[in-house]
Amino acid sequence: MDNFTPVKKMMTEKMIRLYCSECHGSPEPCDECKESLDRSFRHLDACRFKDKGWPCVSCQECCFKGKDYDDLMKLMTFAQKWMEENPDKAEQMRPPVPPNAP
Ligand SMILES: [Zn+2]
Repeated sequence: MDNFTPVKKMMTEKMIRLYCSECHGSPEPCDECKESLDRSFRHLDACRFKDKGWPCVSCQECCFKGKDYDDLMKLMTFAQKWMEENPDKAEQMRPPVPPNAP
């Protein structure tokens, strides 16, 4: 498996959409969320392990630093909690490929 970047982009967008609709009450990502999605995409495109690493947070040289890292963690924590609280809808949030995490 060597095309993780499109998958990661898709997952990030899904999580942002979920987060924004649940936390900001906006069906489409609001400006703040759009900006954080843009930043994530830029990190993913610039990653030197492009298409290789999964997931970003387990990367030894994670491109997400400072606020971007905090935002990503906040997003992932939120999505995880949401999936636990909404097991019937959790399926749509799962990655389309099995992660090859250690
Ligand atoms: Zn938002």
